[in-house]
Amino acid sequence: MKTAINAKQIRDFLAPLRSQRIAFVPTMGCLHAGHVSLIRKAKASADIVVVSIYVNPLQFGINEDFSEYPRTFEKDAGICRNEAVDFIFQPENLYPDGGSNITLKVNAMDHMLCGGARPGHFDGVVTVVNMLLNIIQPNIAIFGEKDWQQLAIIKRMVSDLHMPVEIIGSEIIREANGLAMSSRNRYLSPTELKQALTLSLALQLSQGLAQQGLGNDNILEQARQCLNAQHITTEYLEILDENSLQPSHQSQHQRLFIAAKIGQTRLIDNISLQQSGEKT
Ligand code: AMP
Repeated sequence: MKTAINAKQIRDFLAPLRSQRIAFVPTMGCLHAGHVSLIRKAKASADIVVVSIYVNPLQFGINEDFSEYPRTFEKDAGICRNEAVDFIFQPENLYPDGGSNITLKVNAMDHMLCGGARPGHFDGVVTVVNMLLNIIQPNIAIFGEKDWQQLAIIKRMVSDLHMPVEIIGSEIIREANGLAMSSRNRYLSPTELKQALTLSLALQLSQGLAQQGLGNDNILEQARQCLNAQHITTEYLEILDENSLQPSHQSQHQRLFIAAKIGQTRLIDNISLQQSGEKT
């Protein structure tokens, strides 16, 4: 495994390997089993795997946790080595002169969910993902369904901008108790960890209710009651069509999305409300 710390280095490493299939897994580090699942999917579908570790300043708001975001490079490198990753790309700074002179702007699918609460967040995400894809030029790139809106927007970017890469989504990896794995879970105190569990419990409850044929309003009401009982106030709790991210009561592809602050930590999660027989 080799580590590159700038664009030229990783391009030089990859130059003689271009005839092979290259898979790319972008991350912000502090790797956990969720990231490992993406790496394994990448390994299974390509010859060469590149993992990037970059805490992207452009996707953090002014009062968000950019400076506190955990940076655990040695441990991350150990995980990558165990997973037989070929290259880590860990740039110090991706933006020329430390600034971002040219950025991309998302004009669809970003007004709702996380986009509503974090203005400019997805502009920062697509700008950096675009740069990373231009640098690595992989055949495929793997993103987690945990960040469903991000995955949907990146798929749209690649399609709208005719980028020659296939974007692959990968299922959410959870702790044994159901909590979606996240680098931010380490911010939670033991009491907050217990409270955070209610997010996935509310999602599972909702999925069960959807499978019994309950309507969206009832599902949302019961999910809210479950969350209220643990004093959780949501930033959003919404059922949307999982492709368009628009409200749709008829959709067969509905998904419940949740964001909530547990203490100072903002967590997100989502679940399909499709009946298992309906999955396509
Ligand atoms: P991050 O390092 O949090 O920016 O995440 C890097 C990639 O890992 C993104 O594509 C995330 O969606 C994905 N990811 C993070 N947590 C999980 C999880 N629990 N299950 C699956 N993918 C995840």
